[in-house]
Amino acid sequence: MNTYDTRPDAYQSVSLDDWTDWRWQQRHQLRAPEDFEGVLELSDREYRGFSQTEGDFRVGVTPYYASLMDPSDPDCPVRRQGLPDPEEARRADFERRDPLAEEEHMPVQGLTHRYPDRVLFYVTHHCPVFCRHCTRKRKVSDPKTAASTGQIEQGLEYIRQNRDVRDVLVSGGDPLTLSDDRLMAILGALRDIDHVEVVRLGTRNPVTLPYRVTESLCDRLAEVAPIYLNTHFNHPREVTSEAQRALRRLLSAGCVLGNQMVLLRGINDDPETVMDLNRRLLSAGCRPYYMLQCDMAQGITHFRTSLRRGLEIMDHLRGRIAGMGVPDFVVDLPGGGGKVELVPQYLEERSRGDAFDEVVFRNWRGETYRFADIVEEYS
Ligand SMILES: *Cc1c(COP(=O)(O)O)cnc(C)c1O
Ligand code: SF4
Repeated sequence: MNTYDTRPDAYQSVSLDDWTDWRWQQRHQLRAPEDFEGVLELSDREYRGFSQTEGDFRVGVTPYYASLMDPSDPDCPVRRQGLPDPEEARRADFERRDPLAEEEHMPVQGLTHRYPDRVLFYVTHHCPVFCRHCTRKRKVSDPKTAASTGQIEQGLEYIRQNRDVRDVLVSGGDPLTLSDDRLMAILGALRDIDHVEVVRLGTRNPVTLPYRVTESLCDRLAEVAPIYLNTHFNHPREVTSEAQRALRRLLSAGCVLGNQMVLLRGINDDPETVMDLNRRLLSAGCRPYYMLQCDMAQGITHFRTSLRRGLEIMDHLRGRIAGMGVPDFVVDLPGGGGKVELVPQYLEERSRGDAFDEVVFRNWRGETYRFADIVEEYS
């Protein structure tokens, strides 16, 4: 079963070759309300979403991703990630245009250097799907801010000059939007820098456009292996047979796969959905890396969940799925504080003893266990 067999009416005359061709999918990105006719039934609310977000953050959905949407349910978890909502136009005092202060920590345009050993390198502002919850919506989807060849060269030069940079995360936008040649030129240049030990790609293409992961691309990725590739599945419905095939190819090309999901209200903010997603990802060879708290970017407050909700989900995962399926629950602090991890409280009590302390733990089932902790004097 794949999406071609169940494609919406509007695509009945499309050939299988076109449907599975990523360039065809990119060219046929759905952008305006009319484009969705014959694909799904837009709700009044979604129509208002289009008019109220105009000029703010573009709509863009691949026919592939649209075919995963429930045509008659506006609350469909895939649909809500791709179609605009009037709430996006609302502004709250605490929201920020650049919540993670990525622009402030840019030694050169298009590169954020926040941690000592690693940098975030933005190589494009385009994506197959413009996710409504995107934290970089201030610039993603805006062709005016796209990275030029000169800017990319400047970023590479910065990395060459800074021997502390061991780890480069190539991101965007979605770097797999670039042609194979352009992408490989960047990855190849990074591999040629002796002090760069780790090269990473952050891409949502396995979710939004899995046909992008062609055999020819994978042959070339294999030449620069291992690439740490983190993708962004948010819901089990996104783990289709096409997505699984894309992940399998990337594994064969020597990629190390991880997933960074974002907790989104009404989409994936319950323990069973996250459990189901993580099981499917593990079986496809992709390890859940982060479960990210939705941040304080403008117009995404309606997607946010409480920190307590995230902790409840974490509490549910531990013990019920292998540790490999338990991501770190992370908050990226506003203003550029970086990522911090939140962990449910398992240590309930500590009482002072002479030779050792008695510690009371709660396990994943809620039972208590006692543990004798060594009392060490560190000077
Ligand atoms: C998240 C992030 C990274 C990647 O770091 P991790 O080790 O994957 O957490 C690097 N730079 C910036 C600015 C980031 O926000
Ligand atoms: S793919 Fe990533 S960068 Fe692009 S819109 Fe979605 S979240 Fe933002």
